[in-house]
Amino acid sequence: MEFTRLNEKHVRDLMTMVPTERFSTGESTLDLHSRDQSHHRPTRPDGVIWPIGKSEVSRILGYANEHTIPVTPWGAGSSLEGNPIPVHGGLVLDFSLMNHIIDIREEDFQADVEPGVIYKDLNEKLRHKGLFFPPDPGADATIGGMIANNASGTRTVRYGSTKDHVLRLSVALANGEIIDMGTRASKSSSGYDLIHLFVGSEGTLGIVLEATVRLVGLPSEFSAGIATFPDLGAAGKAVFGILRGGLSPATLELLDPKCVEVINRERGLGLKALPTLFMEYHGSSEEQVSELMEMARDISSSEGCVDFRSGIGRAERDHILGARHELGEMIFRAHPGYRVLSLDIAVPITAYPEIISGASHEVLERGLVGYTFSHAGDGNIHLLLAGEEDDSCQWAVIDQVSEKIVLKALALGGTATGEHGVGIGKRRFMEAEHGKALVWMKRIKALFDPKGILNPGKIFP
Ligand SMILES: Cc1cc2nc3c(=O)[nH]c(=O)nc-3n(C[C@H](O)[C@H](O)[C@H](O)COP(=O)(O)OP(=O)(O)OC[C@H]3O[C@@H](n4cnc5c(N)ncnc54)[C@H](O)[C@@H]3O)c2cc1C
Repeated sequence: MEFTRLNEKHVRDLMTMVPTERFSTGESTLDLHSRDQSHHRPTRPDGVIWPIGKSEVSRILGYANEHTIPVTPWGAGSSLEGNPIPVHGGLVLDFSLMNHIIDIREEDFQADVEPGVIYKDLNEKLRHKGLFFPPDPGADATIGGMIANNASGTRTVRYGSTKDHVLRLSVALANGEIIDMGTRASKSSSGYDLIHLFVGSEGTLGIVLEATVRLVGLPSEFSAGIATFPDLGAAGKAVFGILRGGLSPATLELLDPKCVEVINRERGLGLKALPTLFMEYHGSSEEQVSELMEMARDISSSEGCVDFRSGIGRAERDHILGARHELGEMIFRAHPGYRVLSLDIAVPITAYPEIISGASHEVLERGLVGYTFSHAGDGNIHLLLAGEEDDSCQWAVIDQVSEKIVLKALALGGTATGEHGVGIGKRRFMEAEHGKALVWMKRIKALFDPKGILNPGKIFP
């Protein structure tokens, strides 16, 4: 596909659609929109626009489509697969000014939001109403970016991922046409499910301008625990036991010994450097969450758990799980001057110990710096591989190892990405994962975006 780079005439034309203070071609702005939080190499856009309304986005898209100028939507730039990097230049639409919570209908458990709303800000507002929006990628992500990546997080095991919380979308297509999909009913069997086509499409099919999201009641009581196991097999069995036992954990995370060492260093928790489960339970009373924690303790003990700590209440929960939530940043901090590849795969739960021990073996054998942690209840594994910024030999090995692990995940019936999306990094696995279905994905892309201007260079190999 041949794209047009932004020239002076385009800039003049675009200036008639948005005021100067919301359009920039300045060096520092272009740099800020050239990279996400991944290890992928940055590429600058030609210009950045901060839209403030639907009709503005529609006009800009119509113009860009006519002139075959690439348009890449931008939320908070916290992606880990290069998803918002404008690899073909063109325009970036930064949605940070479209950040209004339009309406909260608490008795319907719904909120209407603009795409630039940071999910943590929404949850702060909802807290006073006893509600929350459960998907929690951890970073300061926007709801537009979460919808585009179908983000999930530590609470997905109980509450589902972003796709389970989107009821209605207003989307601008590549030609500037705006369409609404979905309803405010909590379920529907009407027609093709366009919402779930757009959720996870990484801004390649259309741009989200407004969403109605599903909320849930904030639990009144919390408990959290840390269980240490002698080996991975025992921890895997405990995960299965907790899920099968109907304990419905709100968080069930498995950390490898190296992650535990990092947490000990930063938080002084003094945990044994062994495979460790971090877990959380939600309920309506202290008795209920205590009982769930005791059941988890019993299950863990029966699988050979060597240390079990727990706490009841919000403060205890925050103390115990805070360490897990900040693990990513702690690892980044532990390796200043390094780039970190954040590998994200998911497999059936039964394949879980095999893939993790295979990954650990590879890391050891190839002499790499690697940390494995996972949303264990979902079979979603992250392997963080750190390499010196300019050591191309080391990065070649990191690349080989990550490819081997992804192919193994696919062979075990899993996916190349559980939650970070395809972006740039996982394009090469699309054929292996989807086979003939990939041809139909390409046809869908061509139908919605015939000139391919929306976030080009992503998803497709
Ligand atoms: C420390 C750390 C931890 C993380 N942990 C997790 C985790 O546990 N789970 C998880 O899922 N992710 C995680 N992430 C990744 C990231 O936070 C999520 O993918 C998040 O959803 C990205 O949101 P964003 O607002 O930053 O979007 P961006 O990175 O800006 O964009 C993401 C994608 O959405 C597109 N996009 C943005 N806005 C729109 C719009 N309005 N319409 C259409 N497309 C749009 C972009 O083009 C891009 O393709 C983590 C990231 C970091 C840095």
